[in-house]
Amino acid sequence: PRPDLDLAALVRTIPDFPKPGIRFRDITTLIGDAEGFSESIRRLTDRAAVYRPDLIVAVEARGFLFGAAMATAMGLGLVPVRKAGKLPGLTIGVDYELEYGVDRLELHEGAVVAGHRVILIDDLLATGGTILAAAQLMRNVGAEVAAAMFVIDLPDLGGSARLRDAGLACETLIA
Ligand code: 5GP
Repeated sequence: PRPDLDLAALVRTIPDFPKPGIRFRDITTLIGDAEGFSESIRRLTDRAAVYRPDLIVAVEARGFLFGAAMATAMGLGLVPVRKAGKLPGLTIGVDYELEYGVDRLELHEGAVVAGHRVILIDDLLATGGTILAAAQLMRNVGAEVAAAMFVIDLPDLGGSARLRDAGLACETLIA
């Protein structure tokens, strides 16, 4: 364990990606660093364990990277929540608002069921729109969201406040 390791220093900020004015937080430099990646997973799993989940639900696409490692470390299964049209089996979906237009997240039918207690994981929390849509999917199948977890929070974009208003426990490593 490296409790002293500065994870924020391993995240790179790329200006004007994917469009002008956006400062994109790039986690590829964090996961490309052996100690940075393993320490990230250690901190995420330490916090996740407190909630006693029975399943990890990861959001496409960068959520998969962290969710997969968390699930194996915790001895839990991993369920992907994906963008529309990506999952091969029967799905249930939820539409959510973007800045311009709408998007749709999908879940395989039967992958999460009533009584499951899940941790939602994504790399970054911005407005909260994505994770609130994923949480809605969990509620729609009768599952409980024990907590939503992120490597990075951008609190100025309001996501953490929206999750608090929604009564969703939220854990982030870097703010
Ligand atoms: P939200 O729905 O909270 O506004 O946006 C969060 C979603 O967009 C996450 O799935 C996250 O992966 C992606 N995202 C938005 N901005 C960034 C960013 O600067 N860096 C990374 N890595 N992901 C971002």
